[in-house]
Amino acid sequence: MTDPRRQLPSVDSLLAGPGIASLLATHPRALVVKAARAAVDEARVKGGTAPAEGWDAAVRAAVRRLAVPSLAPVINATGVVLHTNLGRAPLAPAAIAAVTRIAQGYSALEYDLGRGTRGSRHAICRDLLVELTGAADALVVNNAAGALLLALSALARGGDAIVSRGELVEIGGSFRIPDIMARSGARVVEVGTTNRTHPNDYDRALTADSRVLLKVHRSNFQVTGFTADVAVVELAEMAHARGIACVYDLGSGLMMNLSGWGLSGEPTVPEAVAAGADLIAFSGDKLLGGPQAGILVGSEAAIAACRADPIARTVRADKLTLAGLEATLALYRDPEVAIREIPVLRMLTESGDSIRARAERLGGQLIEGDSEVGGGSFPGAKLRTWLAGFPDESLAERLRANDPPIIARVAGSRVLLDARTIFPEQIDTVKAALTADG
Ligand SMILES: *Cc1c(COP(=O)(O)O)cnc(C)c1O
Repeated sequence: MTDPRRQLPSVDSLLAGPGIASLLATHPRALVVKAARAAVDEARVKGGTAPAEGWDAAVRAAVRRLAVPSLAPVINATGVVLHTNLGRAPLAPAAIAAVTRIAQGYSALEYDLGRGTRGSRHAICRDLLVELTGAADALVVNNAAGALLLALSALARGGDAIVSRGELVEIGGSFRIPDIMARSGARVVEVGTTNRTHPNDYDRALTADSRVLLKVHRSNFQVTGFTADVAVVELAEMAHARGIACVYDLGSGLMMNLSGWGLSGEPTVPEAVAAGADLIAFSGDKLLGGPQAGILVGSEAAIAACRADPIARTVRADKLTLAGLEATLALYRDPEVAIREIPVLRMLTESGDSIRARAERLGGQLIEGDSEVGGGSFPGAKLRTWLAGFPDESLAERLRANDPPIIARVAGSRVLLDARTIFPEQIDTVKAALTADG
């Protein structure tokens, strides 16, 4: 018997198929060729039988698969507001408009329009950050881990950076603060214990080589019970008494107090600035609600040292980030506008009744539960929410296969959709996916 695999059609003969001409009219030839090859390969793997749906349909399906961008928008039905795997903060309309405007053409990114000479991208967002945080100066880079690397390189390279053992955090994706610190060229000096660190622990570690006292905000876990740590205000005083600097890795970048909505315990950026650290590092896409960015605010001398450090060039922010961040920051000039316009703040402060109304529209069983802030912010905080529950384990996988994919929560044998993170304009799409299925 002959091997059926020998009888598979050639790619050229597939391209001559009657249904393929229209594909070639609407897609690049290279893509259709790749799809035809994929269809043949798939048939070979399956033992050499022609696809049940016919060759043209198989090529068409392969074209569709290959043409979708690998970065696809999804609907977040998990209720985790800052979901790092789902891209953290969705942008405010003003930020989207700013990104689009700048993406469309040239911009005065590093150009001084008054003088007609070279300018600095570091000027963008700088004045707004100074205005909103009370810091003397500010610098925007690519992300907060990059900001920390830069801060320590600029202030502690070749010397010691002293940090509490209770603050040696893993920030996710198995990346750890002490490893990032070490790459800055500073020597990491650990003091205290996991649960308790006292002022004299730092004091005893201080030598002529000390450059920085580092405070890391425990953004993704809580330590309770027999605990002690040194407040950043005290750490800054200790540092300044010795003529060295205090760096504060704040993590989340909360710009305004949300305790009125039951969210407390996370220091705001203005509070951190008032505590006197020389540099404060935080993310643009966590509680701030903007694009991925790392923001440094602090003293003029410390920010100047950061600007002059070679690492600044390796972690610089791009123009789309700067455009989106500037527009997001501008919304904070009016806190009411910020709450209304910045999706992260709107979702965190939405009333239970309003969430419930959306959950009800999804059908299923209405369940009261909790959403999570996520993104290493307000650890342990519980946000009461409303979920639509479906007693069907396999539903989660089918929702992921929807266009656009819908990411739900799975709890035991139930699939739960948290209405908090489903935007009002997405409800009909989700409903259609649920009913098409049932
Ligand atoms: C999230 C976080 C970081 C990292 O921020 P990215 O913007 O993701 O780089 C660093 N430190 C702390 C304390 C954080 O919470």
